[in-house]
Amino acid sequence: MDNRSGKGLSFVRRIYLPRMIGLGIGLFSVAAAVAPLSPPTWAWLLLLFNGLLWPHVAYQWARRSIAPYQAEQRNLLLDSLMGGFWTAAMHFNPLPCVTVLSMMTMNNVAAGGKRLVMRGLVAQLVGMLLASALLGTGLQLNATPLQIFACLPMLTLYPLALGWVCYRLAIKLAEHKRRLRDLSLTDSLTGLLNHGAWKDLLLLRFQACQNLQMPSVIALIDIDHFKTINDTFGHVVGDCVLRKMSDELRRNLRAGDLAGRYGGDEFCVILPDTSESEAREAMERLRERIVCYRDPQLPHLKVSLSIGMSAFRADLQSPEHWLEKADKALYCAKRRGRDQVNFEHDETTALQPVSQAEYPR
Ligand code: GH3
Ligand code: MG
Repeated sequence: MDNRSGKGLSFVRRIYLPRMIGLGIGLFSVAAAVAPLSPPTWAWLLLLFNGLLWPHVAYQWARRSIAPYQAEQRNLLLDSLMGGFWTAAMHFNPLPCVTVLSMMTMNNVAAGGKRLVMRGLVAQLVGMLLASALLGTGLQLNATPLQIFACLPMLTLYPLALGWVCYRLAIKLAEHKRRLRDLSLTDSLTGLLNHGAWKDLLLLRFQACQNLQMPSVIALIDIDHFKTINDTFGHVVGDCVLRKMSDELRRNLRAGDLAGRYGGDEFCVILPDTSESEAREAMERLRERIVCYRDPQLPHLKVSLSIGMSAFRADLQSPEHWLEKADKALYCAKRRGRDQVNFEHDETTALQPVSQAEYPR
């Protein structure tokens, strides 16, 4: 499995810039504090490596690892270890030490929460012991003006960099959340509202109609003999018909109308602020467009719709009751021969037996 993508790698990338800035400017604070203590050459070289090269080494090391996330956690612990090391190397000079340790802790909180903070503390202690063993121990409690000024870039720029990274992350998370929410409300095949989302909106519309006595109409639309279309032309063509149907719905409805896929070959529409005659006209237009639709590749493919409609009335007890009325109207449209629009109160006589359309194979 290729691990060079996904969570681990984006984590590694996210850490790269703050580490580069933090260690780059932290170099000044440490250098100013260790200089009066005359450390050996190897300690200077180590400091230069840690401040200037380590961020790039750490990035490449984690990026090329088969488990970038774990590799980055190790790098963060090495950062802490080195932080502890320089603290002891500076003979615990208060200002640069607090600067380095607090920035490091802030970084560990942001990157790994409580667990990384605790493990980071242990790594810092190990670093302090290591530096004491290699460079000797000492205590330097007075900071010179140069040492104070050398800490200022770290104290100002590093929180800025880390804050910026956290802000970008928060924006990204909000975007992901919005996309997930949209996905949870959408039917994947047609892009219309899915069953649950549409029913939620139906409840809201029902309450609005009750409160404001606003005329609204719902429609249930079912493709006639869709099973035969699937059996004759295949499910891929069936899916194309469903998508075509959703395109036509979008094209024919107003911006405020709410169209969803109720399930299978059945669609549902809420037409707010609409009279019966306007709703009938809109659905007739849709029915005609679909019945006139021809696919040049499949000249024998014919699609028709049965549409059941129900207008809001004050005596409706619930959204389900409203839906039931539209469903009954749809059933009547089917029984009356399909390819038609039917209101719940329309004439229900002259019902015809349900028949199967015939398609040439
Ligand atoms: P009627 O005129 O009475 O509505 O007959 P019908 O054949 O359309 O009714 P039925 O409910 O028996 O058939 C619906 C079919 O829709 C059955 C199912 O296999 C098919 N179907 C459901 N979901 C999908 C889908 O996502 N894609 C495709 N291609 N077919 C689907
Ligand atoms: Mg059908």
